Amino acid sequence: MDIKGKFSGLAKNISSGASQVAKKSEEIVEVSKTNMSIDSNENKIIELYAKIGEVIFNRYKDGKEIPQELKELCKDINNLEEVNEKLIGKINKIKKLKKCSNCGEEMKTEITYCQKCGLKQNN
Ligand SMILES: [Zn+2]
Repeated sequence: MDIKGKFSGLAKNISSGASQVAKKSEEIVEVSKTNMSIDSNENKIIELYAKIGEVIFNRYKDGKEIPQELKELCKDINNLEEVNEKLIGKINKIKKLKKCSNCGEEMKTEITYCQKCGLKQNN
């Protein structure tokens, strides 16, 4: 092969290499776009599971019939909510805050009347 032929062959290899790189990066973009769609759908599925859970939990709270295995899970949620209520109370004690027993408004413990509903507070 003459010099000219060698260069032409090299140029062909470079150009085919470049187009392979371009194809590879197109693939990467396509795969990551598709992965984003999958992630987005998975998040929607998780939200829908949560909505199903809410429907079941509300039935449980209303005293309606739900399957036994779901009752246990609903009790777990109830217990966690009670624990959180106590933890919120703990934070409020640290911050010297209290909640109005009528409207739930947060206020400093030394305040006598609720600023929102006017109820006299038991200090
Ligand atoms: Zn109030």
